Amino acid sequence: MTYDCIVVGGGPAGLFAAYNAAINGNSVLLLEKNDRCGKKLDITGKGRCNVTNACPREEFLNNVIANPRFLMSAISRFDSEDTVAFFEMMGVKTKVERGNRVFPESDKAHDITVALVTACKNTGVEIQHKRVTAVLTENNSVKGVRCGREELYAKSVIIACGGSSYPKTGSDGSGHRLAESVGHTVTKIRPSLVPLVSPDKLCRDCMGLSLKNVGVSFYKDGKKPLYEEQGEMMFTHFGVTGPCILSASAHLQNSYPCTLYIDMKPALDEKTLDKRLLRDFSEIPNKALKNAFNALLPSKLIDPFIELTGIPPETKLNSLTKEQRAKIVALLKAIPIKIVGTRPIDEAIVTGGGVDCREIDPKTMQSKLVSGLYFAGEVMDVDAYTGGFNLQIAFSTAFTAGNSI
Ligand SMILES: Cc1cc2nc3c(=O)[nH]c(=O)nc-3n(C[C@H](O)[C@H](O)[C@H](O)COP(=O)(O)OP(=O)(O)OC[C@H]3O[C@@H](n4cnc5c(N)ncnc54)[C@H](O)[C@@H]3O)c2cc1C
Repeated sequence: MTYDCIVVGGGPAGLFAAYNAAINGNSVLLLEKNDRCGKKLDITGKGRCNVTNACPREEFLNNVIANPRFLMSAISRFDSEDTVAFFEMMGVKTKVERGNRVFPESDKAHDITVALVTACKNTGVEIQHKRVTAVLTENNSVKGVRCGREELYAKSVIIACGGSSYPKTGSDGSGHRLAESVGHTVTKIRPSLVPLVSPDKLCRDCMGLSLKNVGVSFYKDGKKPLYEEQGEMMFTHFGVTGPCILSASAHLQNSYPCTLYIDMKPALDEKTLDKRLLRDFSEIPNKALKNAFNALLPSKLIDPFIELTGIPPETKLNSLTKEQRAKIVALLKAIPIKIVGTRPIDEAIVTGGGVDCREIDPKTMQSKLVSGLYFAGEVMDVDAYTGGFNLQIAFSTAFTAGNSI
């Protein structure tokens, strides 16, 4: 039998592409190598699945890190409102949280997976659990795929195998190898949205501590920051993580080693902060320095912070010199943390790099090299910040591919 379409990969991109292809009356076979679809999808958003971002369409592309222009057409054909409408149609009610992040009302990522699998089944998509090992082509046209010794034939093939991050969920980079085997270029693969590694003792001392509304800025050498943002971060046994850090990792690329400066009081400039310290300290002149920060810093950070100042913790506040106070102010505005690299790609939320977008038609997601071959989702060189943008990219590109075959 020759299918109209074979979809390789049963993640959000593959499932949604298969559904869209099938709803147009095509015979569709979806091949997923795991024994169930959506293994990664089930752990997204810490099991709650931040399914899209309800920001205005113009803002969406500002949150795309790699190749936003390539995605313009796909996002304008199927945007976050369409995603919400699709899931509501499938019986999954959604809610919008801080930063326009959309979640299923149930807080269960699995409900999103079930909706996608059900949509596929309802439209007659055949799902088989097999690993695709090769794409079959003839005269630069796709013919089907090989799964070990078995050959399966189709008029079109959509590769939706994901990237290389969290390989235990199934996305082990095999989509990149399939694309390369038929002549596509794969740009350099690197971890994106990944925690950062620091040798500094302060990180281990403060392990588990989460900081909200802090400023983070990264410098290598020179005065211009490599990246700066205000928001949330966390200390871990290996270094730092949290939303600001993950976003920064997407920009730092080859800049390691570099220094992260944490601004504990981003709303106050140094002068105002100094005035506040003077006032606070003058109210408790006989207290020791180690007891002076309760209102200024989270308790876990106080001892490591005082260690950084180099001032003896027993120093009475009324005997602090102007220079010592200036040092405290400077550190409150910029706690330095040495960053030596990223955690491995296995721990990255998304893969940076992928099938070169210049070899894909953005209006159809069809390969410019092999006729009938399409791509959808993270297998391509597209990635975005946290906030639901990566799943929306999967849905938008899948919609385009599924409707173009
Ligand atoms: C911990 C974590 C949390 C995340 N949270 C969010 C979030 O809340 N919001 C958000 O927008 N994004 C989130 N992401 C990113 C998001 O999950 C991905 O961008 C998205 O899953 C990509 O979808 P995809 O379908 O392209 O690839 P995947 O979801 O990786 O799916 C690819 C599928 O293809 C299968 N496959 C691979 N090779 C083959 C082969 N040769 N033959 C057959 N099948 C194959 C795999 O088994 C897999 O099931 C998160 C990622 C991680 C790791």
